[in-house]
Amino acid sequence: MPLITADEIRQVIRNVPDFPQPGIQFKDITPLLADARLFAGSIELLTAGFEPGDVDAVVGIDARGFIFAAAAAYRLRAGFVPVRKKGKLPYLTHEQTYNLEYGTNTIAIHIDAIQPGARVLLMDDLLATGGTAAAAAELVRKVGGQILEIAFLIELTHLQGRTRLSGHSVRALVAY
Ligand code: AMP
Repeated sequence: MPLITADEIRQVIRNVPDFPQPGIQFKDITPLLADARLFAGSIELLTAGFEPGDVDAVVGIDARGFIFAAAAAYRLRAGFVPVRKKGKLPYLTHEQTYNLEYGTNTIAIHIDAIQPGARVLLMDDLLATGGTAAAAAELVRKVGGQILEIAFLIELTHLQGRTRLSGHSVRALVAY
């Protein structure tokens, strides 16, 4: 039995209008993180169906994805791998550039972060247009990882991010 319901998660996610810029409804997850029961329960739900031994690495996306991916990796006794913004990782990297509404963004992974054939869960806090997760999935592919699932706490369904992730199993705990 899960410890919590998706509705309880939804109730604590705070909507902050016009942050970081006008027109954006920012989904603030800090009240969820601060609640011991809801934080633990959301990790249970993000990893439900997987047990220790099923997954080799949980890949988290900079920066809020790290919080969930690291806790999920601990629960599944898997490794944790960061996908970071360009220029932050110290060793040799693969990079992937994708389009934002205005301009582009580049993310990176260490070339040896994942063993070829490793079973990977990819995680972030929120699925919006799917550009970030699609680029991260491409980085996992470049290092030879095999994505079992892409998991998010939140999905903004009107942006249809799942269409950018077609071919992957996608999980989101709450949708708006
Ligand atoms: P996208 O590439 O459009 O799917 O955007 C996803 C990334 O941007 C995630 O790493 C989110 O943390 C962040 N993000 C996008 N929109 C929001 C939002 N409304 N509230 C909070 N974070 C967001």
